[in-house]
Amino acid sequence: MTARTPDSADSPDSPDSAALYGLHNLPYGVASADGAEPRPVTRLGDEVVEIAALVGDLAPLFEQPSLDAFLAAGRPTWDDARARLASALADGVPAGLGRSLDEVRMHLPFTVADYVDFYASEHHATNLGRLFRPDGEALMPNWKHLPVGYTGRAASVVASGTDVVRPCGQRRPPGAEAPTFGPSTRLDIEAEIGFVVGTGNAMGRAIDIADVDDHLFGVVLLNDWSARDIQAWEYVPLGPHLGKSFATTISPWIVPMAALRAARVDVPGQDPVLPYLAMERPWGLDIELEVEWNGEVVSRPPYATTYWSPAQMLAHLTVNGAPTRSGDLFASGTVSGPERHQRGAFIELTWGGAEPVEVAGEQRTFLEDDDEVVLRATAPGPGGTRLGFGEARGRVVPAIDPPPSARAAAHPAPHATDRTLQETS
Ligand code: MN
Repeated sequence: MTARTPDSADSPDSPDSAALYGLHNLPYGVASADGAEPRPVTRLGDEVVEIAALVGDLAPLFEQPSLDAFLAAGRPTWDDARARLASALADGVPAGLGRSLDEVRMHLPFTVADYVDFYASEHHATNLGRLFRPDGEALMPNWKHLPVGYTGRAASVVASGTDVVRPCGQRRPPGAEAPTFGPSTRLDIEAEIGFVVGTGNAMGRAIDIADVDDHLFGVVLLNDWSARDIQAWEYVPLGPHLGKSFATTISPWIVPMAALRAARVDVPGQDPVLPYLAMERPWGLDIELEVEWNGEVVSRPPYATTYWSPAQMLAHLTVNGAPTRSGDLFASGTVSGPERHQRGAFIELTWGGAEPVEVAGEQRTFLEDDDEVVLRATAPGPGGTRLGFGEARGRVVPAIDPPPSARAAAHPAPHATDRTLQETS
């Protein structure tokens, strides 16, 4: 496949960088260099610059190792900071303040408070329904009435570049009576959009869908790594658990909602919804995702085809009075379009492994050790521009050997090496 769009845009010196990371974007991240403390940064082209030096008396919000304080500050402060950044960078990065992207290490930009994953793509839900329940209706009766989701594990949300240890768990081979235990043999990805809550809601008080703009800070790319064999055995009746909770990779840049105004589109036509899910403005986003597997682009999922919007997801998530907090992360679920080359998970792309795809000259179904997957995306900006989202990159490393089931008491449990658990830049 040809791969022009965001393909190399996150690499330093890419010709696309200046265009994708101009003043119309100004994403938020956290970076460190030379062993110094991490600090919030923004990005202009291939340069990163510390925000504290650019925003006057808002600096204390950014003289911190994360974006947590800024996220909690609320919409007026977010808008003020963005205006100050645009003004300070109008003529480029001031002399002496910028660093090249390849000189810094990017970190998880905020403390993930809670993590909820939805199932908002009708194409994905239909495909998975057919694969997991071939004899039943593809969509459950509730699917078009509420955005289906589950609460995941915030602690295993990691920054792009963090290696992913192949999970071990129970899985029942086809036709077998009893489960076996061992490393997942059907390790998969899910290409998703993640939404970062800036200011949350108190317990007992829902977020009205008309007020979501005041709560929702921005967008990250998100890979919800999934062990399909573990998932298939465990998920009835309570949903995903260990098949999902071992790792979720996000891009290190949060693109603020304020940068995405030109990307707003209507969601695809919906069946009638209850009033608390009715939207007053377009809440879809025309984000074009790209899935690269071992250096080859294998899928281009169009987020604009997603059925449920982020406003509906946040309204639904809180309608029962559940609180959200600054740093809450909720994700779209796998983004899949109607075409085969738009499917955002390998279980769909290969139809459960029955239809392998060619990846760098090999016939492949699920992930093997040392495989690397990178998510990228672009979206429309103002005046015909495009904006980039950075990348969500992760490499699969072997399961801990021997797996826990094989450990003898006489042999202390080995731990994953530092290499497997550290972020790499
Ligand atoms: Mn997911």
